[in-house]
Amino acid sequence: MVGSEQEQVNPSLIEQDLELFLAITPGLLCILDFDGCFKRIMPQAAKLLGYDVATLIAQPFVDLVHPDDRQESQDAIAQLTQQTSPVSFENRYRCANGGYRHLVWNARTHDNVIYAAATDITEQRQAEQSLRQEREFSKSLLNTVNVLNERIQTEFALLTNQQTLANIFDLAGEAIICIDQQQQIRLYNQAAENIFGYTAAEAVGQPLDLLLPETARMVHHQHVNKFSKSSVPARRMGEHRGQVHGRRKNGEIFPAEASISKSKTREGLWFTVMLQDVTERLQAEAAIRRSEEQLRTTTNALPVLIAYIDANEHYRFNNYAYEAWLGVPYKSLEGQSLEKALGPDIYNTIQPYLQQALAGQSVAFEAEFPDMDRPYHWVSVSYQPDIQNGKVCGCFALTQDISAHKATDQLKNEFVSVVSHELRTPLTSIHGALKLLTTGQLGQLVPQGQELLEIALKNTERLTRLINDVLDLERIESGRIKMIKVRCQVADLLEQAAQAMMPMAQTHGVKVEIAPTDAYIYADPDHIEQTLTNLLSNAIKFSPGGETVLLRAVEQPHQVLFKVIDHGRGIPEDKLETIFERFQQVDASDTRKHGGTGLGLAICREIVQHHEGRIWVTSIHGQGSTFCFTLPKTPIQDVPS
Ligand code: ADP
Repeated sequence: MVGSEQEQVNPSLIEQDLELFLAITPGLLCILDFDGCFKRIMPQAAKLLGYDVATLIAQPFVDLVHPDDRQESQDAIAQLTQQTSPVSFENRYRCANGGYRHLVWNARTHDNVIYAAATDITEQRQAEQSLRQEREFSKSLLNTVNVLNERIQTEFALLTNQQTLANIFDLAGEAIICIDQQQQIRLYNQAAENIFGYTAAEAVGQPLDLLLPETARMVHHQHVNKFSKSSVPARRMGEHRGQVHGRRKNGEIFPAEASISKSKTREGLWFTVMLQDVTERLQAEAAIRRSEEQLRTTTNALPVLIAYIDANEHYRFNNYAYEAWLGVPYKSLEGQSLEKALGPDIYNTIQPYLQQALAGQSVAFEAEFPDMDRPYHWVSVSYQPDIQNGKVCGCFALTQDISAHKATDQLKNEFVSVVSHELRTPLTSIHGALKLLTTGQLGQLVPQGQELLEIALKNTERLTRLINDVLDLERIESGRIKMIKVRCQVADLLEQAAQAMMPMAQTHGVKVEIAPTDAYIYADPDHIEQTLTNLLSNAIKFSPGGETVLLRAVEQPHQVLFKVIDHGRGIPEDKLETIFERFQQVDASDTRKHGGTGLGLAICREIVQHHEGRIWVTSIHGQGSTFCFTLPKTPIQDVPS
């Protein structure tokens, strides 16, 4: 359309067109005066609200506005009366059916009237509202679910706790009995059933007296009442009255250990009694006490010192003998350190052995206690470690007075020595005389006389050997013969011993073989040779003719192991140890048959022990024997024997 054509248009036609346009526009159009009353309203607007146009004309615009939105609408109209620029606002407009429609208004003023057009957004608002409601609903649903969930969890936890408590209650080894303030049984667990013999069904609801000995009921009631008023929440029962007792269904009274606690419940104050039947424990304790008393009585009656020493070298047990020995009550020694109880001199003597025992070794030793103003001088001590779970907890100590024994031994040795000595001189002259007589230089005897003379000569020779052996043993034992130790070549020692025994070997038709060796030992060569010849002479003596005796020396890290091996008659197992004792022989006829003294092995043992070595024999009876002994390769620090 061009401007010239526009100018030619009839104004009333334009108004008509406008009316038509307005009639079909979906918006709500109206004109208000400055008082806010409808001057004109399009019929479709009136229709949407359910009114006819006439009803609305002259009606104040805000009268049909929702009370909550009225102020905003009034403010907008007031604003429009002041300005010509457009104003937008929103309100809910009441329809004829009483409902409301949501309208968004755009209005402006012209020539003292207000032109207003509204868009109906009721559906949009309703959709928004229902969306909000749905959201609200979902939210509150979620809340409810959460609350519910929490409650379920709490209740589940509560249930689990209750179940756990119920389990504990029933699995407990102690009787658990809950009583109310009237002292009636309210709860009663499995252990209570086992201890008292009443089932829970029988006990619950009954007075607690059911489980108490008649004599204890009164006192017990008083105590529970007193406890209910006291400020302590729990305490042991029978602390002041002594042993608590229970009563079983069968009437049996039994000793018990019990504690009582109180707690407030919905039903008032409840008491929980936890009780243990201690019959067996008390019996076991009494048995232990009895056996301890027996042990003490027994050990007290013994004339030896018996003690238990802990890992810190403190006495934990002493028998009565200590009283006589140390001059103090034996019970006062318990807990005292050995150093303090025994004094430094004795303590220093025993300490190295005690250390060994507390390191887990069994130790036995003899010692002469210095400066003893007491009846004991020489003692034989043995320590036995007390090992528990691989740990040394202490040791058992046994100390025996061997002074008398030592004195007798010494006397005996001196006597033997004197006698032997005194015998040796006349024996030598008898032997010389007999030898001279057998030569016939002093005249010939009849053959019978000659035979008797030779027997007498043999016997004097045997007697001389015996006396020599006795004297030898006594001198080595008493330490009067000193071992003069030097470094010596083992091969030489073996060779010399074999040479010395050669005549005897030849007489017996036995061969002696020596295994080569480069070893050296630190020893007294004369005495080692004496040991070797002694063993060799036995091996030859007890081997059948034609056999071989072997001499060997095996070098070991710190020592040399000597072996004298024969294939003779062997030694029975029960004699393997005893033949090293004095005058011990496998067969009583050995002396007669083989001319031995029964002292050879005792001398060998004494010599070897003076070298800190060890001697022993292994043998298969009937097949031969192997005598072994060890000697150190280098000097060893002297240890007390
Ligand atoms: P003896 O002077 O009697 O030989 P020993 O003390 O040397 O005394 O030996 C004690 C006993 O040990 C012997 O009498 C003998 O019964 C037994 N005996 C020692 N060596 C051997 C051996 N090689 N074979 C068998 N028995 C032996």
